[in-house]
Amino acid sequence: MTKPALTLYMAAPRGFCAGVDRAIKIVEMALEKWGAPVYVRHEIVHNKFVVDNLRDQGAVFIEELTECPDDRPVIFSAHGVPKSVPAAAAKREMIYVDATCPLVSKVHIEAQRHSERGLQMIMIGHEGHPETVGTMGQLPDGEVLLVETVEDVATVEVRDPDKLAFVTQTTLSVDDTIDIVAALNARFPAIVGPHKEDICYATTNRQEAVKAMAPKCDAMLVVGAPNSSNSKRLVEVGARAGCKYSQLVQRGTDIDWRALDGIRSIGITAGASAPEVLINEVVDAFKDRFNVTVEHVVTAEENVEFKVPRVLREATA
Ligand code: SF4
Repeated sequence: MTKPALTLYMAAPRGFCAGVDRAIKIVEMALEKWGAPVYVRHEIVHNKFVVDNLRDQGAVFIEELTECPDDRPVIFSAHGVPKSVPAAAAKREMIYVDATCPLVSKVHIEAQRHSERGLQMIMIGHEGHPETVGTMGQLPDGEVLLVETVEDVATVEVRDPDKLAFVTQTTLSVDDTIDIVAALNARFPAIVGPHKEDICYATTNRQEAVKAMAPKCDAMLVVGAPNSSNSKRLVEVGARAGCKYSQLVQRGTDIDWRALDGIRSIGITAGASAPEVLINEVVDAFKDRFNVTVEHVVTAEENVEFKVPRVLREATA
Protein backbone atom coordinates (compact mmCIF):
# COMPACT_ATOMS: atom_id res chain seq x y z
CA MET A 1 0.00 0.00 0.00
CA THR A 2 1.34 3.48 -0.88
CA LYS A 3 1.87 5.65 2.14
CA PRO A 4 0.29 9.13 2.12
CA ALA A 5 2.67 12.07 1.62
CA LEU A 6 3.53 14.17 4.67
CA THR A 7 5.75 17.22 5.11
CA LEU A 8 7.43 16.98 8.48
CA TYR A 9 8.75 20.28 9.79
CA MET A 10 11.44 20.06 12.46
CA ALA A 11 11.82 23.14 14.65
CA ALA A 12 15.35 24.25 15.48
CA PRO A 13 16.42 24.87 18.15
CA ARG A 14 14.52 22.15 19.98
CA GLY A 15 15.22 19.72 22.82
CA PHE A 16 18.08 19.78 25.31
CA CYS A 17 19.40 23.13 26.52
CA ALA A 18 22.79 23.76 28.12
CA GLY A 19 21.36 23.69 31.67
CA VAL A 20 19.74 20.28 31.19
CA ASP A 21 22.82 18.88 29.52
CA ARG A 22 24.97 20.05 32.44
CA ALA A 23 22.57 18.68 35.08
CA ILE A 24 22.54 15.21 33.53
CA LYS A 25 26.34 15.25 33.21
CA ILE A 26 26.59 16.18 36.90
CA VAL A 27 24.63 13.07 37.95
CA GLU A 28 26.63 10.82 35.61
CA MET A 29 29.96 12.23 36.80
CA ALA A 30 28.88 11.99 40.45
CA LEU A 31 28.06 8.31 39.93
CA GLU A 32 31.47 7.84 38.36
CA LYS A 33 33.23 9.63 41.21
CA TRP A 34 31.37 8.33 44.25
CA GLY A 35 29.72 5.17 42.93
CA ALA A 36 26.06 4.26 43.46
CA PRO A 37 23.85 5.25 45.09
CA VAL A 38 23.95 8.98 44.45
CA TYR A 39 20.82 10.76 45.68
CA VAL A 40 19.08 13.39 43.56
CA ARG A 41 16.60 15.78 45.14
CA HIS A 42 13.64 16.06 42.76
CA GLU A 43 13.72 14.89 39.11
CA ILE A 44 17.08 16.19 37.90
CA VAL A 45 15.23 17.51 34.82
CA HIS A 46 11.55 17.02 34.04
CA ASN A 47 11.73 13.95 31.82
CA LYS A 48 10.81 10.41 32.82
CA PHE A 49 13.07 8.80 30.21
CA VAL A 50 16.11 10.72 31.50
CA VAL A 51 15.24 10.00 35.12
CA ASP A 52 14.68 6.26 34.49
CA ASN A 53 17.97 6.07 32.66
CA LEU A 54 19.88 7.65 35.55
CA ARG A 55 18.00 5.48 38.04
CA ASP A 56 19.26 2.43 36.14
CA GLN A 57 22.80 3.75 36.62
CA GLY A 58 22.35 4.05 40.39
CA ALA A 59 20.74 7.43 41.01
CA VAL A 60 18.05 7.50 43.71
CA PHE A 61 15.42 10.21 43.28
CA ILE A 62 13.95 11.75 46.42
CA GLU A 63 11.74 14.77 47.07
CA GLU A 64 13.16 15.88 50.41
CA LEU A 65 16.65 15.92 51.84
CA THR A 66 15.41 14.02 54.91
CA GLU A 67 15.06 10.93 52.66
CA CYS A 68 18.81 10.92 52.01
CA PRO A 69 21.33 9.33 54.40
CA ASP A 70 24.12 11.58 55.75
CA ASP A 71 26.89 9.55 54.17
CA ARG A 72 25.83 9.59 50.50
CA PRO A 73 26.23 12.47 48.03
CA VAL A 74 23.15 14.39 47.03
CA ILE A 75 22.54 16.49 43.93
CA PHE A 76 20.08 19.38 43.66
CA SER A 77 18.07 19.51 40.44
CA ALA A 78 18.46 21.99 37.55
CA HIS A 79 15.41 23.95 38.73
CA GLY A 80 17.15 25.27 41.84
CA VAL A 81 16.38 24.90 45.53
CA PRO A 82 15.44 27.20 48.40
CA LYS A 83 18.44 28.39 50.44
CA SER A 84 17.34 26.22 53.34
CA VAL A 85 18.19 23.04 51.38
CA PRO A 86 21.98 23.45 50.95
CA ALA A 87 22.03 24.91 54.47
CA ALA A 88 20.47 21.71 55.85
CA ALA A 89 22.91 19.57 53.83
CA ALA A 90 25.87 21.56 55.14
CA LYS A 91 24.61 21.23 58.71
CA ARG A 92 24.50 17.44 58.27
CA GLU A 93 28.02 17.60 56.72
CA MET A 94 26.75 15.92 53.57
CA ILE A 95 28.49 16.00 50.21
CA TYR A 96 26.20 17.92 47.89
CA VAL A 97 26.47 19.14 44.32
CA ASP A 98 24.23 21.89 43.04
CA ALA A 99 23.00 21.23 39.49
CA THR A 100 20.91 24.42 39.44
CA CYS A 101 21.14 25.89 35.94
CA PRO A 102 23.48 28.92 36.01
CA LEU A 103 20.68 30.97 34.41
CA VAL A 104 18.42 30.15 37.37
CA SER A 105 21.24 30.95 39.82
CA LYS A 106 21.56 34.32 38.09
CA VAL A 107 17.91 35.04 38.99
CA HIS A 108 18.59 33.96 42.59
CA ILE A 109 21.44 36.47 42.77
CA GLU A 110 19.28 39.23 41.25
CA ALA A 111 16.56 38.62 43.85
CA GLN A 112 19.08 38.75 46.65
CA ARG A 113 20.69 41.98 45.41
CA HIS A 114 17.33 43.72 45.15
CA SER A 115 16.40 42.55 48.61
CA GLU A 116 19.69 43.84 50.04
CA ARG A 117 18.76 47.25 48.63
CA GLY A 118 15.55 47.11 50.66
CA LEU A 119 13.24 46.25 47.76
CA GLN A 120 10.39 43.79 48.15
CA MET A 121 10.37 41.20 45.37
CA ILE A 122 7.59 40.17 43.03
CA MET A 123 8.15 36.93 41.16
CA ILE A 124 6.32 36.18 37.92
CA GLY A 125 6.04 32.39 37.86
CA HIS A 126 3.89 29.31 38.26
CA GLU A 127 2.86 28.45 41.81
CA GLY A 128 4.37 25.21 43.06
CA HIS A 129 6.85 24.80 40.18
CA PRO A 130 10.20 23.81 41.73
CA GLU A 131 11.98 26.76 40.09
CA THR A 132 9.48 29.21 41.60
CA VAL A 133 9.78 27.51 45.00
CA GLY A 134 13.59 27.67 44.73
CA THR A 135 13.74 31.32 43.70
CA MET A 136 11.20 32.45 46.30
CA GLY A 137 13.14 30.43 48.87
CA GLN A 138 16.24 32.59 48.39
CA LEU A 139 14.65 35.18 50.66
CA PRO A 140 12.79 34.95 53.96
CA ASP A 141 9.09 34.04 53.88
CA GLY A 142 6.89 36.93 52.76
CA GLU A 143 9.71 38.82 51.01
CA VAL A 144 8.76 37.45 47.58
CA LEU A 145 5.20 37.83 46.29
CA LEU A 146 4.09 35.58 43.46
CA VAL A 147 2.04 36.75 40.48
CA GLU A 148 0.95 34.36 37.75
CA THR A 149 -1.32 36.54 35.63
CA VAL A 150 -2.15 40.14 34.70
CA GLU A 151 -5.17 39.82 37.02
CA ASP A 152 -2.87 38.94 39.95
CA VAL A 153 -0.96 42.18 39.36
CA ALA A 154 -4.13 44.18 40.00
CA THR A 155 -4.66 42.63 43.44
CA VAL A 156 -1.17 41.96 44.81
CA GLU A 157 -0.64 43.75 48.13
CA VAL A 158 2.82 45.24 48.49
CA ARG A 159 4.60 46.84 51.43
CA ASP A 160 5.66 50.01 49.62
CA PRO A 161 4.86 50.58 45.91
CA ASP A 162 8.03 52.67 45.56
CA LYS A 163 10.31 49.92 46.84
CA LEU A 164 9.71 46.97 44.56
CA ALA A 165 11.62 44.79 42.11
CA PHE A 166 10.60 41.80 40.00
CA VAL A 167 12.16 38.61 38.69
CA THR A 168 10.64 35.88 36.53
CA GLN A 169 10.76 32.14 36.12
CA THR A 170 13.07 31.26 33.20
CA THR A 171 10.61 29.05 31.31
CA LEU A 172 7.55 31.27 30.90
CA SER A 173 5.70 32.24 27.75
CA VAL A 174 7.55 35.26 26.37
CA ASP A 175 4.31 36.87 25.14
CA ASP A 176 2.33 36.37 28.38
CA THR A 177 5.23 37.71 30.39
CA ILE A 178 5.44 40.90 28.31
CA ASP A 179 1.82 41.61 29.32
CA ILE A 180 2.45 40.87 33.01
CA VAL A 181 5.57 43.07 33.08
CA ALA A 182 3.59 45.86 31.38
CA ALA A 183 0.88 45.55 34.04
CA LEU A 184 3.50 45.72 36.81
CA ASN A 185 5.11 48.81 35.28
CA ALA A 186 1.71 50.45 34.92
CA ARG A 187 0.66 49.82 38.52
CA PHE A 188 4.09 50.31 40.10
CA PRO A 189 6.02 52.82 37.95
CA ALA A 190 9.05 52.68 40.28
CA ILE A 191 9.44 48.88 40.06
CA VAL A 192 12.95 47.71 39.19
CA GLY A 193 13.53 44.65 37.01
CA PRO A 194 15.74 42.99 34.45
CA HIS A 195 16.03 44.62 31.00
CA LYS A 196 13.06 42.55 29.70
CA GLU A 197 12.49 39.50 31.92
CA ASP A 198 14.54 36.50 33.08
CA ILE A 199 13.25 34.03 30.47
CA CYS A 200 16.31 32.10 29.30
CA TYR A 201 17.78 31.89 25.79
CA ALA A 202 16.62 28.27 25.38
CA THR A 203 12.98 29.02 26.23
CA THR A 204 12.96 32.10 23.98
CA ASN A 205 14.59 30.31 21.03
CA ARG A 206 12.28 27.28 21.22
CA GLN A 207 9.21 29.52 21.31
CA GLU A 208 10.49 31.58 18.35
CA ALA A 209 11.06 28.42 16.27
CA VAL A 210 7.53 27.23 17.05
CA LYS A 211 6.07 30.59 16.02
CA ALA A 212 7.82 30.28 12.65
CA MET A 213 6.81 26.64 12.19
CA ALA A 214 3.25 26.46 13.51
CA PRO A 215 1.47 28.43 10.75
CA LYS A 216 2.82 25.97 8.14
CA CYS A 217 1.52 22.87 9.94
CA ASP A 218 -1.81 21.05 10.00
CA ALA A 219 -0.75 19.73 13.40
CA MET A 220 2.14 20.11 15.82
CA LEU A 221 3.61 17.83 18.46
CA VAL A 222 5.83 18.89 21.33
CA VAL A 223 7.95 16.08 22.73
CA GLY A 224 8.13 16.71 26.47
CA ALA A 225 6.84 15.85 29.91
CA PRO A 226 3.52 17.02 31.40
CA ASN A 227 5.40 18.60 34.33
CA SER A 228 7.84 20.46 32.06
CA SER A 229 6.94 24.15 32.11
CA ASN A 230 8.80 25.08 28.93
CA SER A 231 7.26 22.13 27.00
CA LYS A 232 3.72 23.13 28.01
CA ARG A 233 4.44 26.70 26.91
CA LEU A 234 5.51 25.41 23.47
CA VAL A 235 2.12 23.69 23.06
CA GLU A 236 0.36 26.98 23.87
CA VAL A 237 2.64 29.02 21.61
CA GLY A 238 1.95 26.61 18.72
CA ALA A 239 -1.82 26.90 19.18
CA ARG A 240 -1.67 30.68 19.41
CA ALA A 241 0.54 30.90 16.33
CA GLY A 242 -2.24 29.31 14.32
CA CYS A 243 -1.78 25.55 14.50
CA LYS A 244 -5.19 23.96 15.07
CA TYR A 245 -3.86 20.80 16.72
CA SER A 246 -0.98 21.38 19.15
CA GLN A 247 -0.29 18.55 21.58
CA LEU A 248 2.27 17.29 24.05
CA VAL A 249 3.59 13.74 23.65
CA GLN A 250 6.10 12.01 25.89
CA ARG A 251 7.10 9.55 23.21
CA GLY A 252 6.06 7.86 19.95
CA THR A 253 3.50 5.59 21.57
CA ASP A 254 1.51 8.64 22.81
CA ILE A 255 0.63 9.87 19.32
CA ASP A 256 -3.13 9.97 18.76
CA TRP A 257 -3.21 8.78 15.12
CA ARG A 258 -6.98 9.15 14.89
CA ALA A 259 -6.73 12.87 15.65
CA LEU A 260 -4.09 13.21 12.93
CA ASP A 261 -6.15 11.51 10.25
CA GLY A 262 -5.91 13.34 6.90
CA ILE A 263 -3.05 15.71 7.83
CA ARG A 264 -0.57 16.68 5.11
CA SER A 265 1.95 18.41 7.33
CA ILE A 266 3.17 18.00 10.90
CA GLY A 267 5.50 20.16 13.00
CA ILE A 268 7.73 18.62 15.62
CA THR A 269 9.61 20.29 18.43
CA ALA A 270 10.72 19.33 21.93
CA GLY A 271 11.02 20.94 25.33
CA ALA A 272 14.41 21.69 26.85
CA SER A 273 14.42 18.47 28.91
CA ALA A 274 13.45 16.06 26.09
CA PRO A 275 16.30 13.95 24.72
CA GLU A 276 16.91 13.60 20.96
CA VAL A 277 16.29 9.84 21.18
CA LEU A 278 12.61 10.50 21.99
CA ILE A 279 12.32 13.06 19.19
CA ASN A 280 13.73 10.47 16.77
CA GLU A 281 11.23 7.93 18.04
CA VAL A 282 8.37 10.32 17.17
CA VAL A 283 9.85 11.07 13.73
CA ASP A 284 10.27 7.35 13.04
CA ALA A 285 6.63 6.71 13.97
CA PHE A 286 5.62 9.17 11.23
CA LYS A 287 8.05 7.60 8.76
CA ASP A 288 6.41 4.22 9.39
CA ARG A 289 3.01 5.54 8.35
CA PHE A 290 3.75 8.29 5.84
CA ASN A 291 5.96 9.06 2.90
CA VAL A 292 7.80 11.81 4.77
CA THR A 293 9.64 14.85 3.41
CA VAL A 294 11.59 16.53 6.21
CA GLU A 295 12.03 20.32 6.26
CA HIS A 296 13.92 22.18 8.97
CA VAL A 297 12.62 25.47 10.33
CA VAL A 298 15.73 27.07 11.81
CA THR A 299 15.36 30.38 13.65
CA ALA A 300 18.56 30.40 15.73
CA GLU A 301 21.86 28.60 16.26
CA GLU A 302 22.82 27.71 19.82
CA ASN A 303 26.32 27.14 21.13
CA VAL A 304 25.86 27.67 24.87
CA GLU A 305 27.71 25.33 27.19
CA PHE A 306 27.96 25.39 30.99
CA LYS A 307 30.84 23.87 32.96
CA VAL A 308 30.10 21.28 35.63
CA PRO A 309 31.13 22.21 39.21
CA ARG A 310 34.85 22.01 39.93
CA VAL A 311 34.53 19.12 42.40
CA LEU A 312 33.46 16.91 39.48
CA ARG A 313 35.87 18.34 36.90
CA GLU A 314 38.79 17.56 39.18
CA ALA A 315 37.58 14.02 39.67
CA THR A 316 37.65 13.10 36.01
CA ALA A 317 40.56 15.26 34.78
S1 SF4 B 1 15.45 25.88 30.21
FE1 SF4 B 1 16.83 27.66 30.44
S2 SF4 B 1 16.97 28.03 32.65
FE2 SF4 B 1 16.08 25.96 32.36
S3 SF4 B 1 17.85 24.58 32.45
FE3 SF4 B 1 17.55 25.13 30.29
S4 SF4 B 1 18.91 26.91 29.94
FE4 SF4 B 1 18.65 26.67 32.15
